[in-house]
Amino acid sequence: MQDTIFGKIIRREIPAEIVYEDDTTLAFLDIAPNSPGHTLVVPKKPSRNLIDIEDDAYLAVMQSVKKIAVAVQKAMEADGFNILVNNEPEAGQQVFHTHVHIIPRYKTAAFQKFPPGKPNVKTTPEELKEIADKIRSAVTS
Ligand code: 5GP
Repeated sequence: MQDTIFGKIIRREIPAEIVYEDDTTLAFLDIAPNSPGHTLVVPKKPSRNLIDIEDDAYLAVMQSVKKIAVAVQKAMEADGFNILVNNEPEAGQQVFHTHVHIIPRYKTAAFQKFPPGKPNVKTTPEELKEIADKIRSAVTS
């Protein structure tokens, strides 16, 4: 796997505001926050995104996400938070080392929910069923 900026942060080759670390995960502040307290949680072992991350690493990351999201909400006195993973460029992924965004949300208008709540597509019940059938067939055990 190609090295990324997050690999450099994990190895302490470049600075970051690290807020949590354990054997397999690291959490640090996003350099360009979407709202105050925006934090990223990464596995120490490189993977591109949720498509190739190993189950053990994924579970460890999500365990840290829960712990850190609760801490971020408390520390920042946030009113809620989003958990977000961008997978592949078309979904907005820019750094190709798996990471989970914790984005605090506030009653303050400037930092309210993302993405906006309106649906992008109108879907009939028949279309929903067709889509659900395709996904059900693609689910692997
Ligand atoms: P993505 O779009 O890949 O889901 O998110 C990458 C995130 O990493 C962005 O929110 C961006 O601001 C953040 N980021 C990019 N480079 C750095 C960096 O050098 N340090 C830190 N702390 N965050 C970074």
